[in-house]
Amino acid sequence: MPRAGQSAGLALAGKTMLAPPDEAETSGQPAQDGALESGPMGLIACQHCDTLHAAVDVEPGGMALCTRCGYVLMRRSRFPLSFWQSIAGCALIVFAIANFFPLVHLTMLGKTLDANFIGALWLTWENGHFILAIMTGLIGFWFPLTQLCFLFWALGCLRRNSLPPDFRAAMRIYTLVGPWSMVPVLMLAIIVSIVKFAGLATLEPGPGVWAFAVMTFLMTALSRLDSVRLWQYAETEGLVAPSLDTGLPEDKLAACHACGYVQAHHLRDEASQCERCGSVIRKRHAHMRTRVWALVLAAAIVYIPANVLPMMEIRSLMGSSEHTILGGVIELWRLGSWDLALIVFAASVVVPITKLVALTVLLCGRRWRGEGTQRQRTRLYELVEFIGQWSMLDVFVVILMSVMANFPGMSQIIAGPAAASFGMVVVLTMLAAMSYDPRTGWDMGPRTPAETTDESKRTR
Ligand SMILES: [Zn+2]
Ligand SMILES: [Zn+2]
Repeated sequence: MPRAGQSAGLALAGKTMLAPPDEAETSGQPAQDGALESGPMGLIACQHCDTLHAAVDVEPGGMALCTRCGYVLMRRSRFPLSFWQSIAGCALIVFAIANFFPLVHLTMLGKTLDANFIGALWLTWENGHFILAIMTGLIGFWFPLTQLCFLFWALGCLRRNSLPPDFRAAMRIYTLVGPWSMVPVLMLAIIVSIVKFAGLATLEPGPGVWAFAVMTFLMTALSRLDSVRLWQYAETEGLVAPSLDTGLPEDKLAACHACGYVQAHHLRDEASQCERCGSVIRKRHAHMRTRVWALVLAAAIVYIPANVLPMMEIRSLMGSSEHTILGGVIELWRLGSWDLALIVFAASVVVPITKLVALTVLLCGRRWRGEGTQRQRTRLYELVEFIGQWSMLDVFVVILMSVMANFPGMSQIIAGPAAASFGMVVVLTMLAAMSYDPRTGWDMGPRTPAETTDESKRTR
């Protein structure tokens, strides 16, 4: 296979299509104004189709897409590292305000109450819902905090141009917690809880709610800085070597999902350790389909009690009543908040079912081949990844409402058994999406003439 060490990209409306090494031209294109100076350019492997590309300079504000499946291979920010570190520092301060100051100040029949997310977690624990308290505590508090601390520290290391030995382990943890940090979902849950509660008590928003809104905005901006991106910064700064072309054939090379480093990997189904960051790398997982099927089936089974059992129990002076997920949606609709009713319905019913159906389609549609079909399959997989965490909405709503209604003797909201089941559905479907390897669809390539003839004989 002919290789080119460095190639020029084709700039398209702020996007740069990266050329695969064997299609790359060695003729240079003048560097864009303000483009970062680059060291030796190496190889980049697409995480969704495994195509190898020769890296090119991307102008600030631009991004490079895979020529085969369209996945974003790299982005280049307009802003320097110091800017991103300041944003991460601000997010940490705002995080403290959001969690330790009241979200809302409530008054009911002369009694007052300040509610915040930490209080909601503590109350859930005290009520004996240990799994629910641990699950929501991790994804709403500990994972976002870990993510911010590691990002702030890593950006500091990159700014000082020195990578301590702990950088590798820190980046592995950062990669692990990233998908499980759900601040935007928690923000939406706060809005839904406030709207649901507005008619039942006098309610004033506290500093926590504004801090959560700011933190959602900051963390969405920071989410672009994943570990592969941080390692790319380290490459650009010359702190680590880029993945250089060693002339090995593509089937003997594998890319690390955590740092993007392309390295020799001789056994297709065996795991090995990344030479750069120490993460486990595999060319392909031998039992990927079995594992995803098991997780999809487990999620489908747990989804039944999540819908049938009560999500919460409301105790008031008028008596007590139990509400399922759909019951909560209908109640929101009755309150006149049809927009929020639709959001909760989408997050609690449409999103989990879409995830289960999409993963089943991805697992079953192995015979569908061709570039166009594989691109559609890749888009479907990206949709499953994107919507993954939003179904956690109703679980957050339940624990937030339990702390807002905590007026013993007057009103109380207790999480029902469906809340933990529903949380498990979200975790299982997210694990299924993470276990699915979209590269396997691209492995099969177009159907050969012999296979087409066999197929037509069978259908006759
Ligand atoms: Zn690709
Ligand atoms: Zn690695």
